[in-house]
Amino acid sequence: MAFSLNSYPVIYRARYSQDGWQEEYLEKSHKTPEEEARLDEAEAAALVNSRNFFDDMPLVSYTTQYGLSCFEGLKALPQKGGGLAIFRPDRNAERFYNSMKGLYMPPFPEDLFINVVKETVRRNAALGFSISYKPEWEKDSFINADSIYIRPFTYSEGGIGVNISRQPWVIVVISPVSAYFSAGTPDAVITNRIRATPNGTGWIKAASNYAIAALAKHEAMDSGFIECIFLDAAERKYIEEGSSCNIFFYLKSGELATPELGDTILPGITRSSIIELARDRGVRVSERKVSLEEVIAGAKECFVSGTAAGATPLTSLTYQGKKTVFNNGKVGELTAELRDTLKGIQYGIIPDTKGWLVRVE
Ligand SMILES: *Cc1c(COP(=O)(O)O)cnc(C)c1O
Repeated sequence: MAFSLNSYPVIYRARYSQDGWQEEYLEKSHKTPEEEARLDEAEAAALVNSRNFFDDMPLVSYTTQYGLSCFEGLKALPQKGGGLAIFRPDRNAERFYNSMKGLYMPPFPEDLFINVVKETVRRNAALGFSISYKPEWEKDSFINADSIYIRPFTYSEGGIGVNISRQPWVIVVISPVSAYFSAGTPDAVITNRIRATPNGTGWIKAASNYAIAALAKHEAMDSGFIECIFLDAAERKYIEEGSSCNIFFYLKSGELATPELGDTILPGITRSSIIELARDRGVRVSERKVSLEEVIAGAKECFVSGTAAGATPLTSLTYQGKKTVFNNGKVGELTAELRDTLKGIQYGIIPDTKGWLVRVE
């Protein structure tokens, strides 16, 4: 299944007008999940593709021409005790609100966002499109577990000149997914490209940010790496983040360091969850500038974090052809603990004492 688009049939769509958000749930063409599972690859692709089209939306828009759009990514996870739960949707609701405001769009209300993501998952599950818990996932700490990925995003009205979007749509598509990074040694490379600049949109989950990220990631993968890591634009000295994930370093001093937020770093919800889990364990965590020089000299563990990635250990970091290997190429102890705790809470095998899970009834 990997991390690919395989959207379920029920799609949420709302459009902003003076009267507020006009909402609808569209049930796109589908068969029963059992029948769909029996389709051959081409038939299945054609069906999923058909759900991905709307003949009443503009082709030429500020989104398609200028990348004026923002999105979210969150997950509904099958619970050991049965049913599904969404991980911290309130935080995604808040970030989506801030992203839309940052792009001068009418922001989507946070309580509406939470209800809509729950309802989209629920309506698809009612048609049989869902995932159930598999005990075998526990064997490798859920690294290969499936989940339902929820992708809310905006889409602008039609237009050809450079402009902001005053009457956007908000669409929510959901798709079953498995592991984000494909198997292989998780080596990363420092890219020369610049993802975000001061006073730019790096802090917004804006579509336009990902053109450069996609190029850098492609170049990294072309050279056998799983991810590219960006340095800051101004001094080219400090680590910022990956193409779609934040980054942590466990230093030899016993400090878990992650680059501090600002206008060039995406405020990850996994990032803030990891910080909290590490502090709970008594680990000294700091959010500060982290230089490349410092981690080359003194990091014993390194991992990236994100909804899609979870907490994924990085074996090494290569800069200008020089490779720095962490923990002799093995998954570090703290990295594994944090990853397993996060996954355990998400899949309902560790009690959710923080109220991070919102059940889909
Ligand atoms: C989405 C994203 C993250 C991770 O955010 P989460 O809320 O943890 O999923 C980190 N960096 C970038 C650039 C992202 O797009």
